[in-house]
Amino acid sequence: MPSRLCLPGQSPESFIKNFKRYMPGKSSRIVPPRTDIKTFRRRIINWFNKNGRVYPWRQTKNPFKILIAEMMLRRTKADQVKSVYERLFAEYPDLEAVAKAGNKKLERILYPLGLKWRTPAFGLVARWVREKYDCKVPNTREELKSLPGVGDYVAGAVLSVAYNRKEWIVDSNIVRLFRRYFGIKTSKEGRRDKHVIEIAKIYVSCKIPRKANLAILDFTALICTPRNPKCERCPLKKECTYKC
Ligand code: SF4
Repeated sequence: MPSRLCLPGQSPESFIKNFKRYMPGKSSRIVPPRTDIKTFRRRIINWFNKNGRVYPWRQTKNPFKILIAEMMLRRTKADQVKSVYERLFAEYPDLEAVAKAGNKKLERILYPLGLKWRTPAFGLVARWVREKYDCKVPNTREELKSLPGVGDYVAGAVLSVAYNRKEWIVDSNIVRLFRRYFGIKTSKEGRRDKHVIEIAKIYVSCKIPRKANLAILDFTALICTPRNPKCERCPLKKECTYKC
C-alpha cells in the first residue's frame, strides 16, 4: 500500500477511502483525494513542458479561431485538423468571412475531416456569434453551449484555451486515463459521469488551466493511448493502477 495513505493527521474516513482505492484488484467510484489529483497534474504538466505539441490554434489568442479549431477536433485527430484549419483561415481569415461563406464553399475545405453532417455548423456558428454576440465569442459555458455544434467539451476547451479559465474538459481519452490511473469505475457513458467530471474540475483548478488542459490532451494522445499505452516511459507509472 502506498505510504501516503498513512499520512499523519489523516482522518479514518479518508484512510478507508484511499485504502479501498488501492486495494489490489479493486476499483472504486469515489473521487480520489485532491493531493493525488494535484500530483497527477504536476507530472503531466512537467511532461508537457518537454513534449507538448505545437499547433496553429495554440499559437493564437483569437477566440473565434480557437472555437473553430475545437469544433474540428471533435472526433478528429489533431494532425488531420492542422491542414484544414490553415486552409480555412487562409481563404476566410476571420469570423465575418466565415459567416459570409456559403455552405458549399466551406464543405469543400472541410471535406478531409469527414463527418459531412457537421459541416453546416461552422458557417452557422459564425453567423450566430456575429448576430447574437456582436462578433465576440461568448465566455460562459452556458452561452457557448447555446451555439450550434458546441457541447460541453468544446465549451470547456474554448474557455480554458482562449480565456485561460478554470473550466473542465472530458473526452473519451481523458476518461480512459482517469480509469487507468486512479482505478475508478465509471458509468457506461464515462464523459458524463459525475465522478469523472469532478476529477476534471479538480484537475483544472490551478493557476495555469490552459496549460493543464492542453497537457492532458497531449498526454492521452501520445502516452496513455487506447492501445499499447507507453507505460515504460510514462511519468505516472509509479502510482498508476493499470496493469501494463
Ligand atoms: S502507466 Fe500506462 S496506463 Fe498508467 S497512465 Fe501511464 S501510460 Fe497510462
